[in-house]
Amino acid sequence: MRKLQRRLLAWYARNGRAQLPWRKTRNPYRILVSEFMLQQTQVERVLPKYRAFIKTYPTLETLAAASVADVIRQWQGLGYNSRALRLKRIAETVVKQFGGVLPRDLESLRSLKGIGPYTAAALRAFAFECDDAAVDTNVRRVVHRLTLGSEEPQALVPRGRGHEWNSALMDLGAAICTARAPKCSICPLRKVCAAAPIDPAATKRARPKSAAIPFERTTRFARGRVIDRLRRLPAGQGVSLLVLHRELAMPDRTADDLKAIVESLVRDGLVSLRGRQVALAE
Ligand code: SF4
Repeated sequence: MRKLQRRLLAWYARNGRAQLPWRKTRNPYRILVSEFMLQQTQVERVLPKYRAFIKTYPTLETLAAASVADVIRQWQGLGYNSRALRLKRIAETVVKQFGGVLPRDLESLRSLKGIGPYTAAALRAFAFECDDAAVDTNVRRVVHRLTLGSEEPQALVPRGRGHEWNSALMDLGAAICTARAPKCSICPLRKVCAAAPIDPAATKRARPKSAAIPFERTTRFARGRVIDRLRRLPAGQGVSLLVLHRELAMPDRTADDLKAIVESLVRDGLVSLRGRQVALAE
């Protein structure tokens, strides 16, 4: 196990993305923001949005005091707008219940609605330099391949190096030990990996063809279009469902479909519907 740890940390020191702004800081709030943005969004897309968000809301207090509509506007370009709302609610709770200071202990972190086991571990590792294993899908896959399931991710964390270790595993999973086509031939761990093929070139496989429906026909796309349209309205103003349906011109969505989408956004707390007027939630 020591060899594996040494090799991965050495690779990270040379090739890791230690310069990412959320890797350089130990500010718990900034790390929380980055973790929320990085859920389901690529690093390159997150970078400019992260910088702009931190500039607008530099502290938990500023985010807690902002209106939901402004936070959703600031989130533009990241998608999955409910993350913005959850983040803001966490800021409000931390201000109210923890004096504006994100707690370090696991129990308190987990008591915050929207912080699950992965985010709590990531906060502890990246903000407080604890040796928690932050296990998302990528990390689980890499560890499973490395040990063929014989070790839990937590057992691999070198003592006192949780920050680097978690970062290194994430970078390896993103750049080399990818889900569909692991690049075993150039992997720094191939000599200690239980899943490494004897002939690394044999790992080159054809990518399976995706049978997924086009993104433009998904509910997520339609929800995003509604939010994008509402973002462009002057603060406090709404638009009628009828006009919204006409403006969005989504041929495969009827007026009733659009109403159902708006209602789902209302249930998520992102949008308000008064009479037939739709607006961003305040
Ligand atoms: S050798 Fe292959 S399977 Fe093992 S960690 Fe490296 S890329 Fe992943």
